Amino acid sequence: MIPAAFDYHRPASVEDALKIISEHGDDARVIAGGHSLIPMMKLRMTDIGHLIDLQSIDSLKGITVDGATVKIGAMTTQHELIENAALQTAAPIISEAALQIADPQVRYMGTIGGNVANGDPGNDMPGLMQCLDATYTLKGPNGLRDVPAREFYEAAYFTGREDDEILTEIQFSAPGGGYAYEKQKRKIGDYATAAAGVLITKDGDTCASASIALTNLADTPVYCEEAVDALVGSSLDAAAVSAAVSAAVDASDPGEDNRGPVAFKKHAAGIVIRRAIERAIERA
Ligand SMILES: Cc1cc2nc3c(=O)[nH]c(=O)nc-3n(C[C@H](O)[C@H](O)[C@H](O)COP(=O)(O)OP(=O)(O)OC[C@H]3O[C@@H](n4cnc5c(N)ncnc54)[C@H](O)[C@@H]3O)c2cc1C
Repeated sequence: MIPAAFDYHRPASVEDALKIISEHGDDARVIAGGHSLIPMMKLRMTDIGHLIDLQSIDSLKGITVDGATVKIGAMTTQHELIENAALQTAAPIISEAALQIADPQVRYMGTIGGNVANGDPGNDMPGLMQCLDATYTLKGPNGLRDVPAREFYEAAYFTGREDDEILTEIQFSAPGGGYAYEKQKRKIGDYATAAAGVLITKDGDTCASASIALTNLADTPVYCEEAVDALVGSSLDAAAVSAAVSAAVDASDPGEDNRGPVAFKKHAAGIVIRRAIERAIERA
């Protein structure tokens, strides 16, 4: 399939990109790596008159780690997330998750901004960003605003981003402690049947903090507050882990599709959540 005809724009700044959006309104769409958008255009699931390529906007690229503060430009590729040594030290859960996305060809082009802005429940970065309690910076005609990743996702393909806003940056604090991103998929290169990100810090033998978020187990990523409550303050013993797993499975709300029926997905969720919690505890 080939997509319908469109006009191609390649602005050199976010301001120029915003101007093109304001000229063409709903008929314009930004493109980052194109590995979610181009397939949709080829399948004629979306029809875009003006495609605004963000590739030449240098201010949207790069990773900075300043003390505990991590900032990642929206146009940073998944490959760059894996290769960056400072990010590997500050938040190794990112490369663990990014390495499970698709294949190297997709990761060379696909960006973190496209992954989190897309709103596809199958994308791995939204759940990961909720796990890290990240903040998204959006730039629109009225300037910049920040939205927590945990409040950004409204439904499948519906997010808190307005149509005339561009996601510019993602920011979070280096988590410390133990981490794990566990993903069950049908084959290499597939989207998750079920995936879970877990962060755990300890104070002596006690769990001081935790974070648990799920991918592709509902229409949006799921941040599992009750599962976190089951771990924090516990000694991370078997009973606390089982309580957290069952609270997280209860928080999931998968639908039946070609990856399996609901009961199977809940079963797979229980397995990935338990594995992620146990690996994060081992590393904490
Ligand atoms: C074979 C295959 C397998 C894949 N498997 C996985 C997988 O297992 N896990 C996974 O997470 N992903 C997977 N993907 C998707 C891949 O990671 C995409 O690259 C990613 O989801 C989207 O990033 P992109 O840069 O390509 O965005 P694009 O496709 O360019 O854009 C996606 C959407 O986001 C919008 N957008 C992009 N950037 C911005 C921005 N800065 N501001 C506002 N809106 C923006 C676009 O307008 C578009 O609506 C797979 C893709 C393929 C082709």
